[in-house]
Amino acid sequence: MRIFNFSAGPAALPTAVLEQVQAELLDWHGTGMGIMEMSHRGKDFTQVAQEAEADLRSLMGIPSNYKVLFLQGGATQQFSQIPMNLLDGRSADYIVTGSWSKKAYKEAQRIGAVRLAGSTEASNFTRLPGADELSFDPAAAYLHVCTNETIHGVEMFDLDGLPADVPLVADMSSHILSRPMDVSRYGLIYAGAQKNIGPAGLVIVIVREDLLGKAMPITPGVMDYAVMAANDSMLNTPPTFGIYLAGLIFKHLLALGGLDAVEARNRAKAELLYSTIDQSGGFYRNPVAVECRSLMNVPFTLADAALDADFLAACQDARLSGLKGHKSVGGMRASIYNAMGIEGVQALVALMQDFARRKG
Ligand SMILES: *Cc1c(COP(=O)(O)O)cnc(C)c1O
Repeated sequence: MRIFNFSAGPAALPTAVLEQVQAELLDWHGTGMGIMEMSHRGKDFTQVAQEAEADLRSLMGIPSNYKVLFLQGGATQQFSQIPMNLLDGRSADYIVTGSWSKKAYKEAQRIGAVRLAGSTEASNFTRLPGADELSFDPAAAYLHVCTNETIHGVEMFDLDGLPADVPLVADMSSHILSRPMDVSRYGLIYAGAQKNIGPAGLVIVIVREDLLGKAMPITPGVMDYAVMAANDSMLNTPPTFGIYLAGLIFKHLLALGGLDAVEARNRAKAELLYSTIDQSGGFYRNPVAVECRSLMNVPFTLADAALDADFLAACQDARLSGLKGHKSVGGMRASIYNAMGIEGVQALVALMQDFARRKG
């Protein structure tokens, strides 16, 4: 029996999709071999990769002047790859709203000139910056944001107040495909797969074509978006299994009704969990400002941290796993990505209420 897996990443995948993978593992579509065993240049895998891209384009409504790249190296490699490709001898702006955007900003400093456009670190990353806390360079090559801070549970729901004429670069690793996004508002979107897409080892980059072709001369070919785009992400061997599995996830989400339907499910889950926290009379607390509480990652603390170990033990007994908070913030964190059903959140909420009754 599978548990309810609240891990922040690598995270739960839909059981039905994993069962399909299991059924196809040794013999994909009568070819007598598994996907992992076939050439990435053969017609079978080429079709798998093309369908994955087409399904992602349809799910997210990606305009035709954007390239979709299936890369490796995780989101962390993008922290360097983005400035290498986009700085173009200029400077870039970074908004720091949590651990991940802070890391992206730090890595970019090794590559070239970058500038802090605003930070909420002094507020412990529990809110987004107000307009009066942001200052933009109108000549910046791009503006980098992390639209969902996985560790702090802070999500950007609108882009109001961000400059319209500087290309926006967004780390969407932990909330891509959780709801519709207006891709045309971004110059580049990137996401590691292991939260909401598929297995670790795959990273997806969606980039507007006019931003390509400006990479620094030292940029390795496998890290140059223009080179990868010209080679359909197959300059070298791509992460074939990851692309295949991501493709099955895209089909699964399309069958659920697309991202509007996915968003409705995610909102119902998040509302149930946040209302349980808020109505616990202070037994549980989420520190994030209400308007930017993440639909995907819900950090919370117990009023008495001495009860943390008991709480986690009770979770384990109830087959709820992955709830220990990130070490930098402590407490708990429930990651409720697309693959977490409402039943899992209902089970968590029931346990939280029971625990609070017994220990409160
Ligand atoms: C997990 C995560 C990363 C890092 O991903 P890696 O694949 O480990 O490099 C970066 N940004 C965000 C928002 C994340 O959630």
